[in-house]
Amino acid sequence: MTRKLHIITFGCQMNEADSESIGNSFIKRGFELTDSLKGADAVVVNTCTVRQRAEDKAVSQIGRLRKWKLARPEGRVFVVGCAAQKLGGKYIKNRFPFVDEVIGAKSIDTVDAAVDAHFGGGPGNDEALKTMKSGVSAFVTAMRGCSLQCSYCVVPSVRGEAVCLPPEEILAEAAAKAAAGAGEIIILGQTVNSYSYRTPGGGTVSFADLLERTAALPGISRVRFMSPHPLFFSPGFFRLFRDNPKIARYVHLPVQSGSDRILKAMRRGYTRAQYLDIVAKIREAAPDAAVSTDFIVGYPGETEAEFRESLSLIAESGVSFAYCFKYSQRSDGQGLAPDLAEAEMKARLDRLLAEIRKNSRDILNSRIGRMEEVLIEDADSGRTSANFVARLEGKPGLRPGSLVKAEITGTHRNTLKGRLIS
Ligand code: SAH
Ligand code: SF4
Repeated sequence: MTRKLHIITFGCQMNEADSESIGNSFIKRGFELTDSLKGADAVVVNTCTVRQRAEDKAVSQIGRLRKWKLARPEGRVFVVGCAAQKLGGKYIKNRFPFVDEVIGAKSIDTVDAAVDAHFGGGPGNDEALKTMKSGVSAFVTAMRGCSLQCSYCVVPSVRGEAVCLPPEEILAEAAAKAAAGAGEIIILGQTVNSYSYRTPGGGTVSFADLLERTAALPGISRVRFMSPHPLFFSPGFFRLFRDNPKIARYVHLPVQSGSDRILKAMRRGYTRAQYLDIVAKIREAAPDAAVSTDFIVGYPGETEAEFRESLSLIAESGVSFAYCFKYSQRSDGQGLAPDLAEAEMKARLDRLLAEIRKNSRDILNSRIGRMEEVLIEDADSGRTSANFVARLEGKPGLRPGSLVKAEITGTHRNTLKGRLIS
């Protein structure tokens, strides 16, 4: 009988992409993926530690596998990713002796060997991968790690220095995913727009080159990327963004704070004005582009007035959406202790979320009446280039992956309503 693998993924898109490649290591060795833990022969927990809560969730998930392992002693538990890197194999195996393998985020490429060690070696069989289907939207990692040192952030310590993957590898993965049904590729990296690859011939492949080449692959309707950093935008990128409609009209550009003093304390490397200037350049290149962002509230020392600068940035930048996080102290970062009481932190988070909701509503409404290209994800809905979900009236039953034109007729909660044109 075919052996089965169950994967549990926490955290960001990068982890989702890693889980996929870990899954492939197993599939090449004859495994099948399963959604059910019960029927699995191996379980992979891909962990996150960006905030303490994420780490706590990962740790309690590992704890819950004790029972599974008791019921199936021949089953294997792999704990991988960022929290595995931070906590270390010794700690995890001491606390959870039933864990068979701990592989930190920096050693993800040792998964193949670990699978061989536990399930018998042998060369991988790529044929199994060729028959796999891809979702409409597929992640492709272009950069691993991060070489910035934002004061609050654990990523550089658990994922290491930034490394750009060779363009041929990235393009081959994107092409394979397009051939398997992905109409949209999302290029990933922590500061993805700093991508720059020196070729052996002495040339350089820039971020804009990489986007352009990905967009030119057969079957690709759209290319997105996550997350760029305000420090690394180039004129070449803005030219491509303006001229190539396959580059999605959407930029997720984390700001973290609207206050210059806090931005400096966070070591983000830009000011509020410089952030706004980048947003203006994005809109100059593509007036219909949507921009979304991340905020951290309650950074140590953040005053009420400084917090209000984050609030006011929402309307001023016109961001369509934001992920907001309460500051979480990370021991591996430069980790200052929070100085705001939890209730106050939560109150700021709620105020920020309310402001975003208000602004998002206006932005969503401003799309009514427009003609949009919708990349269909399930039969009746998909995403516009600016990353709004659009639900089409009359249940047209379209093929996932098809690109259709729709007139936006209204909104429903956080989504657009549209009428199929062609
Ligand atoms: N490389 C990206 C962010 C990656 S981490 C960038 O620099 O833009 C994803 C998000 O988690 C960050 O944008 C930030 O908002 C949040 N985050 C990171 N560390 C955090 C911490 N210690 N506490 C709270 N939120 C944090
Ligand atoms: Fe963390 Fe800053 Fe790097 Fe983003 S850019 S991963 S926030 S250190």
